[in-house]
Amino acid sequence: MLIENKQIAIVGGGPGGLTLARLLQLKGANIKVYERDFDKHARVQGSPLDLHHESGLAALRKANLLEEFKKHYRPGADKMLIVNEHAEILFSDHETHPEENFGCEHFRPEIDRGPLRNMLLESLQPETVVWDSQFVSMEKQNEGWLLHFKNGSTAYADIVIAADGANSKIRPYLTDIKAFYSGITMLEANIYDAEKATPEIHALLNGGKIMAFGNSKCLLMGSKGNNELGFYVSIKAEESWAANNGLNYVDKEQLLTWFKQEYAEWSTVWHKLLENTATPVIPRLIYCMPLDQTWETQANLTLLGDAAHVMPPFAGEGVNMAMLDALELSECLTSDKFKELKEAISDYETTMRKRAAMAASESLENGQVMHSKDALNSMLGVFNEHLK
Ligand SMILES: Cc1cc2nc3c(=O)[nH]c(=O)nc-3n(C[C@H](O)[C@H](O)[C@H](O)COP(=O)(O)OP(=O)(O)OC[C@H]3O[C@@H](n4cnc5c(N)ncnc54)[C@H](O)[C@@H]3O)c2cc1C
Repeated sequence: MLIENKQIAIVGGGPGGLTLARLLQLKGANIKVYERDFDKHARVQGSPLDLHHESGLAALRKANLLEEFKKHYRPGADKMLIVNEHAEILFSDHETHPEENFGCEHFRPEIDRGPLRNMLLESLQPETVVWDSQFVSMEKQNEGWLLHFKNGSTAYADIVIAADGANSKIRPYLTDIKAFYSGITMLEANIYDAEKATPEIHALLNGGKIMAFGNSKCLLMGSKGNNELGFYVSIKAEESWAANNGLNYVDKEQLLTWFKQEYAEWSTVWHKLLENTATPVIPRLIYCMPLDQTWETQANLTLLGDAAHVMPPFAGEGVNMAMLDALELSECLTSDKFKELKEAISDYETTMRKRAAMAASESLENGQVMHSKDALNSMLGVFNEHLK
């Protein structure tokens, strides 16, 4: 095996990095994951994730974790409502929602980010993850790399794999190509004790998700575990808007006033979201890597997930691509097909770039549609077609 007796450093313990660590450990590789979070109790933010048959779930199957996943996913959380700005339901699959069938290629079970991370962490050998290790730089040493972390520690690795997300600090060692702004900014927010705080919206959600469209704007929300509700206020905006709009993201009243102006045509039902949100609300500027990106392969350095191909979240592919990258990279690194590591990495990178570009293109397109004047009708068309 090409990676026999090699020390592998995966930088970043997100879904991509941890899935790779698990898959490579199953093949007997020497793995350390360097993660900037202080410890395993760090709170993982963000929306629940739906895993797809041919990517996220395929990686879990290969990692022998599908049965464990079944204990932690949230049945029914993928049920969908599409509503207009007045919260009138125009599409619902709550009645026709398919059985929880892991054999069906259209079944996309949802899992919260925390339980997904815990499940992957539990599957690793003890001491695999080195917490509180924020990567800052590295230099060549012997045949490999010497990595430096913010806390002053260092580590040697023969092979480095960047899984450190959209703002990867390792990516520049491979390429100068940067992500471009998609024109969309989302305000990410969370409501605790949603049943009590926002009973109307909680009842409408009924354990699933809602997409609301009106006047070229949208609101996306979904129920999470622990009776929480996550939502995104999603608008077209200049790249500088989030920094220069004068909003104080910990001031709920100010945010509500802004929402009432920006979403003036929308029902007052939605005001409850901002009235009850936990703070700070987090602005997420949505970026995408150029679809034609390429770089020269190196023999002991590569990248996966958002570090390789950050993309807008409007096709639900981000985590699925990251986990499929992990699956394909693990297979290339442990295959007998290649004579040299560089060849194995090149094979992985070529396939990964093509696949990610297709997903990113779909996601960019969806983002435009979802923020267009005709968003509601277009999305109804897509979802009704799906039901056929
Ligand atoms: C608003 C929004 C909504 C989204 N919704 C969805 C969705 O519904 N479905 C979907 O599939 N995807 C969604 N995504 C995308 C999805 O979150 C990512 O594609 C996915 O998390 C990528 O996984 P990853 O492992 O590559 O990176 P990440 O999940 O970003 O993990 C990176 C890890 O690296 C660590 N790290 C970062 N820097 C360093 C450093 N210097 N040193 C050490 N460790 C470091 C981080 O702490 C983190 O643990 C969304 C993204 C956004 C912004």
